[in-house]
Amino acid sequence: MQVPARRPGLIDRYGREITYLRISVTDRCDYRCVYCMDPDTRFVPRSQVLSFEEVLTIGAAFVRLGVSKIRVTGGEPLMRKDIVSLLGRLSKLPGLDELVLTTNGSQLARHAAGLKAAGVRRLNVSLDTLDAARFRAITRTGDLADVLDGIETARAAGFERMKINSVILENRNEDEVVPLVRYAIARGMDIAFIEEMPLGEVSDHDRAESFYSNDRIRADLERTFELVPTLETTGGPSRYVRIAGTATRVGFISPHSHNFCGDCNRVRLTAEGRLLLCLGQEHSADLREVVRTHPGDTVRLEAAIRAAMDLKPHGHDFVVGAKPLIFRRMNATGG
Ligand code: SAM
Ligand code: SF4
Repeated sequence: MQVPARRPGLIDRYGREITYLRISVTDRCDYRCVYCMDPDTRFVPRSQVLSFEEVLTIGAAFVRLGVSKIRVTGGEPLMRKDIVSLLGRLSKLPGLDELVLTTNGSQLARHAAGLKAAGVRRLNVSLDTLDAARFRAITRTGDLADVLDGIETARAAGFERMKINSVILENRNEDEVVPLVRYAIARGMDIAFIEEMPLGEVSDHDRAESFYSNDRIRADLERTFELVPTLETTGGPSRYVRIAGTATRVGFISPHSHNFCGDCNRVRLTAEGRLLLCLGQEHSADLREVVRTHPGDTVRLEAAIRAAMDLKPHGHDFVVGAKPLIFRRMNATGG
C-alpha cells in the first residue's frame, strides 16, 4: 500500500511534537483495582462510547498528522467485544509505525495469538504482586493465575520485550519490588514502576499514607542489583535503568518525584471521544461531536485536532496526598 505524504506534524504551544496517541476503547473493566476505581464505579452508557468506525476515523486523522505510535488501553481493552478486529484495522493504518496494547492480562491467554496476528507489536501487562491473595485484595476481583497464564501464552505466541506495569503502595506490596524485577528478568521482560496518581477519589486507602516513591523503589533495587543508567526514553514519563548482566530495563514513572512534562509527546482519546491533552489536567476537546456531527469531513476533524494542540497545558499539578484536582479516574482516562 502506498503511504500518503505526511502533513506538518502536531506541535503544541511549547514546541512539543505530538507523535503518540493513547486510545481508550472502553472505560469498563473486570477488575476494580484499589488505586483506580471503587467497587461501585459507574460506566459510560454504550451509546456515548465511540464506535469502531469512529475510533478508526480519529486514529487515521492523527496518523495523517504525524502520530507514529498508538497505544490501545482502557478500562480493560480486551473487555471490548471484537477488539481484535479493531486492532487489526488500526495496525494497518498507512504511516503508523507501532500499535501497542496495555492490558490487565485477565483475558490475555484467550487473545494472545489473535493480538499477534492483528499486528499488535508489544504488550504492557499490569502486575503489582506475585501473591494470589494480595492480587485479589488489590484488584478486588482478579485471579493471579489468569494473568500469569496470559503472560506465558503471549510469550509463546511470539511477543517479545513485554513490559510489566506495577503500582507499588506502602504496606501492600512494597516488599515485592525485588521479586517483581526477578520475575521480569527471568522472562526477558521490562518493568515499569508507576507512582500512584491522584486521579479520582478512592475509598480504599489514604493516598498520602500509601505513597511509595520511585526513589525508595530505586534504593530497594540498588541493595540487590547493579543499576546501569541509560538515556533510553520513550518521550514519556519513564526514566530507565538497565539491570546489569540482564536484558531487563526498569522504568520509573514518577509524576511526583520528577516532573516529566517538558518532553511530553502524547495525548489521550477517551472512550467517549474526548481528547485529553494532559493526564493531570482537564483540558480537552470533544472529537466525538466532530465525527458525529460531520461524518466523513476529514478536513474539519484534522482542523479540530490541530486546534486542540493549543490547549495542551505546560504540565500537570500533581501533589502527593492532595485532594484530587482531577475527578476522572484512570479507567476513564486511558492509562
Ligand atoms: N486495564 C488495563 C491495565 O490495568 O493495564 C489498562 C488500563 S489501566 C488504567 C493502565 C495503567 O494505569 C495500569 O498499569 C494501572 O496500574 C495504572 N493505574 C490505574 N490507576 C492509577 C493511579 N491512580 N495511579 C497510577 N497508575 C494507575
Ligand atoms: Fe481495571 Fe486497569 Fe483500572 Fe485495574 S488499573 S481497575 S485493571 S482499568
